[in-house]
Amino acid sequence: MIVVIGGGPASFSFAIKHRKLHPNDEIIILEAGYKPLRKVLVAGGGKCNILNDQYEEPVLNNLDYQKNLFTLENIELLRDFYTRDLGLVLLNINGYYYPSSLKGETVAYALEKTARTLGIKVITEQHVIKIKKEAQGFSVITKYQTVYQADKIVLAVGSNLYYHEDFFNYPLFHDLELPSKPFVPFLSSLSVKEKLFSVKGIRARATVSLVINDQVVATKSGEIQFNDTNISGIVVMNLASILSWHETTIGELRIDFFDGLKVPSDYDLRALLPLDLAAYLEENQQDPRNMVLHIIGLNPKNAQVASGGILLEVLNKNYTVKKDPNIIVLGECLDVDGLCGGYNLMHAFLSGLIAGRDL
Ligand SMILES: Cc1cc2nc3c(=O)[nH]c(=O)nc-3n(C[C@H](O)[C@H](O)[C@H](O)COP(=O)(O)OP(=O)(O)OC[C@H]3O[C@@H](n4cnc5c(N)ncnc54)[C@H](O)[C@@H]3O)c2cc1C
Repeated sequence: MIVVIGGGPASFSFAIKHRKLHPNDEIIILEAGYKPLRKVLVAGGGKCNILNDQYEEPVLNNLDYQKNLFTLENIELLRDFYTRDLGLVLLNINGYYYPSSLKGETVAYALEKTARTLGIKVITEQHVIKIKKEAQGFSVITKYQTVYQADKIVLAVGSNLYYHEDFFNYPLFHDLELPSKPFVPFLSSLSVKEKLFSVKGIRARATVSLVINDQVVATKSGEIQFNDTNISGIVVMNLASILSWHETTIGELRIDFFDGLKVPSDYDLRALLPLDLAAYLEENQQDPRNMVLHIIGLNPKNAQVASGGILLEVLNKNYTVKKDPNIIVLGECLDVDGLCGGYNLMHAFLSGLIAGRDL
C-alpha cells in the first residue's frame, strides 16, 4: 500500500503515473481539506497557468535543479501527461500555457476523474498529524486517530501558506527525520514605506527594477497594481521572489511608466497615466520615469508560494529519500520555489511524474 499525504497536483500526478505503470500497487491519497486540489482551482487567477516554454533564465531558486528538471524530455513528459493522460487541450498565450477552458477547475476535474478511473482512492478530511516508522512499513495517524498502514509513504503536503489552516507539517518532517528550512512567504506583494491610499486599486503598465544595496538586480515589465501599503502584480511578485533569493526583505523598486512609449518632451502627465496616479506622482515629486518605492518586506497574507521546505540533498533523483527509499517527497514541501508563470505547478506535477515513473 502506498499512502500519499496531501491531495495537491504533485500527489495526483504521482499516483496517476505510478498506477498506470503498476496497476497492482494500491494507492490512497489522504487530503486534510474538505476537497483536494484547492490551489489548482485558484492558480493563475483561476485560469491555472500550468506550463511555460521559457525556462532558460533562472526561474527556480536552485539553478542546477532547474536545469536537470526542465529538460526537453521532461517537458514532453509533462505535456504528454496533460494532453494524453488527462485529456486536456493546452492554450498557448505568449508562451504561458493554460487549459483551453482557462479554468483551473478543468484541470482539477481531469485529475480527479483520471485518478478515480484508475482506482486511486482519495479520502478527504484526513489531516495527518503523525507518521510512525514500524518494523515493516509505516503507521499514518490522522487528527481523528484513524490509522493507515503503508509500505511506502509519499509526502506531498505543500507549504503551510495560503490555506491559513493549521497545516504546520514540521512534526511530520521530524517523524521521518527529514531536515528542512522554515517556510517563508514568497511570490507575494511587496509592502512599501510610502502610503499609497490615494492610488489604491490603480493598475498601470510599467518597467520595474529591483534595487538592492544600490545595485539593480532585476528588471521586469508588465502590469502592476497599487494597494494602500503594498504593490502587487506578476512583475512585483517575481521581483519579491528575487528579493528573497538575495536573502533580504529590504530594497527599492524603481518604476518607469514610460518605458517603450514615445512620450513627447512637453507631455501632460494626466494625459498619459490614470489621473489619481498622475496626481500622486506630481504631489510627491516623483519622476514617472523613475518612481522610487522603498520595500519594507514581503506580504505573507497574499503569498502564493513559500520558500523553504525539505532539503533536496536528502533525496535521490527519483525523489526517494536516500536514507529510506520507502519515503518519497514531492512538490512544494521541498526546498524549491519558482517565479510566477507556471513554474511552481510544473515543478509539482513533474516531481510527481518522475517519482511515479521511476519508483
Ligand atoms: C493563489 C495562488 C495562485 C497560484 N497560481 C499559480 C500559477 O498560476 N502557476 C503555478 O505554477 N503555480 C501557482 N501557484 C502555486 C501552486 O499552486 C503550488 O506551488 C502547487 O499547488 C504546489 O503543489 P503541491 O502538490 O506541492 O502542494 P499543494 O497544492 O499545496 O497541495 C498540498 C495538499 O496537501 C494538503 N495537506 C497539507 N498538510 C496535510 C496533512 N498534514 N495531511 C493531509 N493533507 C495535508 C493540503 O490541504 C493540500 O491540498 C499558485 C498558488 C496560489 C496559492
